[in-house]
Amino acid sequence: MTIRHTRLLLTLLAISFLLISCKEDELPPCTDIHWEYEGEDGPDAWGELCVDYTTCAGQAQSPVNLAGAIYDPASLDIAQSYSASTTHILNNGHTIQFTYDAGSSILVNGESYELLQFHSHTHSEHSVSGISSPMELHFVHKNLTTGNLAVIGVLVEEGAENEVLKLFTEHLPAAKDSTYEAALTYEAQDLFPEDRSYFTYSGSLTTPPCSEIVTWFVMEQSIQASAAQIEAFEALQHENARPLQELDGRVIRYHSW
Ligand SMILES: [Zn+2]
Repeated sequence: MTIRHTRLLLTLLAISFLLISCKEDELPPCTDIHWEYEGEDGPDAWGELCVDYTTCAGQAQSPVNLAGAIYDPASLDIAQSYSASTTHILNNGHTIQFTYDAGSSILVNGESYELLQFHSHTHSEHSVSGISSPMELHFVHKNLTTGNLAVIGVLVEEGAENEVLKLFTEHLPAAKDSTYEAALTYEAQDLFPEDRSYFTYSGSLTTPPCSEIVTWFVMEQSIQASAAQIEAFEALQHENARPLQELDGRVIRYHSW
């Protein structure tokens, strides 16, 4: 073998080695990828679990600590048009979710967002001036034209028994992927605080794929639920709050509704 041949062989070996290592660096597809709130597949690892979760390491992520908000008298008013819904509760293995009947929406900046579902986090994901709450409800609305989301966050403090949650506490589905269905109707707005002042900022889903398509509206005033009611949720979904994310230059605005 000549020196030239040896060089060629070494070059070929180097190239194949590089190709193999590149292949190993590629992330797998996200089908059947499991994520968790702690351990190896916990929040710090979400962005590296698979190819569609890389946004979890992005710079417009949620939740955040709501502090230093700018009072903005001109910011968005939310016109709300909710109807009653029958009861559909799902335990999806990460949260207890209440799917809402079609036909309820909010109007944000002239655009309609349909209420799809609300779900719960224990403890809260957002904090206000560094203080978190024992629970937070997320009312997820979707703009059916753009696919963007508007999520209203309601913080829940421990206190009086909640009249709406009372309807469901004994029926929360215990097993993953199990559901509870009932003809019983209720109104989502009965889970909102009286004072509708809110913080708003641009952020993301707080679970993988962490898509940065969410305009957040987190109510300043919290609602109350009893310790037993909060415990009923926590017993099933455990600690399902993503840690606080950096603001990375984003601005939080405050508005009295
Ligand atoms: Zn949520």
